[in-house]
Amino acid sequence: MDHFLYRDAELHAEDVMLRDIADAVGTPFYCYSTATLTRHFQLFTEALAPLPHLVCYAVKANSNLAVLKHLGELGAGMDVVSIGEYHRARAAGVPGDRIVFSGVGKTRAEMRAALDGGIRQFNVESEPELDALSEVAAAMGATAPIALRVNPDVDARTHEKISTGRKEDKFGVPLARARDIYARAARLPGLRVVGIDMHIGSQLTDLAPFEAAYTKVADLTHALRADGHRIDRLDLGGGLGIPYTRSNEVPPLPLDYGAMVRRTVGDLGCEIEIEPGRLISGNAGILLASVIYLKQGEGRDFLILDAAMNDLIRPAMYGAWHDIVPVIEGGAANHVYDVVGPVCESGDTFARGRPLPQLAEGDLVAFRSAGAYGAVMASEYNARPLVPEVLVQGDHFAVIRPRPSFDEMLARDTIPQWL
Ligand SMILES: *Cc1c(COP(=O)(O)O)cnc(C)c1O
Repeated sequence: MDHFLYRDAELHAEDVMLRDIADAVGTPFYCYSTATLTRHFQLFTEALAPLPHLVCYAVKANSNLAVLKHLGELGAGMDVVSIGEYHRARAAGVPGDRIVFSGVGKTRAEMRAALDGGIRQFNVESEPELDALSEVAAAMGATAPIALRVNPDVDARTHEKISTGRKEDKFGVPLARARDIYARAARLPGLRVVGIDMHIGSQLTDLAPFEAAYTKVADLTHALRADGHRIDRLDLGGGLGIPYTRSNEVPPLPLDYGAMVRRTVGDLGCEIEIEPGRLISGNAGILLASVIYLKQGEGRDFLILDAAMNDLIRPAMYGAWHDIVPVIEGGAANHVYDVVGPVCESGDTFARGRPLPQLAEGDLVAFRSAGAYGAVMASEYNARPLVPEVLVQGDHFAVIRPRPSFDEMLARDTIPQWL
């Protein structure tokens, strides 16, 4: 459920007419709904409520400071995958002891900065990383709290590029080697084992792969405790999918996910951490664009928008589907368009043969479910200004990232003296 609904045939974000934001900000822009962010965060806290838990929002899904600050004030922890994301979370007021640091390639400088600033735990993904972290922590006179990311070798049955829990994926350490590696971690001077971590992929639409993976985590917990380790926390990762189209099969609800978590790992006495990104911010955002031209091709009509692949890359990168709807509620979807952007690549195609109501130059359209992996993956390709972001709360809105001016864009480059 989200808060982008038609009222009097006009698409609103909560109580704000999207047309009013477009008049003030210009298109394209991303628009997020505070109420939807709140609701999705609370769905998880309610689903896990009987267990001690921390919902660590995956910052990479949408890292705007205003989004992070709102979630942080609701009590969210954060899952970061770079020191840049760590700084964002801290700048948004999230304390270090609510931040977990994931990622296969943490550098020593990143480890040092996170230890210095305060961190809840490092999710360590390899033996060389264990050694490096111990070295860095010991040199600082510190002890780094760690969970080892184990790779359960389950197929999340999601898109190839966002599946992370099979043995051929680069993430984590093989489950079969986990006990040896934990033994090694326990011997290293700069580390303190606090738990187990896993994340098997993104946009999962079925609970079965999670259940298979979490069952393996429960078994591993018993084995590691028998080996003498303290396993107090289980970080179960993110990955719960969202409906990208209304006609699609409905992904599992957080409530059912929570029941499955209790069933598989609920009786271990561990604090549960989860790292949802997409499910919290995905349907809390839309991308608004204007129609520049309607162009008749041979046997097809192109709807040319002012948004492009540099603003929303998911269709080009993953073949992803986004529902596209007119801001002024149209009639029947009896026109078929190829929806494209202005970038000079054929990959700059949002949808082929998409049935839509008839549209005209200047009309506004919205891409639904664009709040996660949208703005964060945007670039300035084709020297297009980075797409702005707007946050709505009730009947008011604020620009939370302005569109840069061309002077600002140019000022970031420097020309060497010899030119
Ligand atoms: C990407 C990622 C997440 C979030 O995944 P979603 O599908 O957005 O919930 C969580 N944890 C880790 C380690 C990730 O890399």
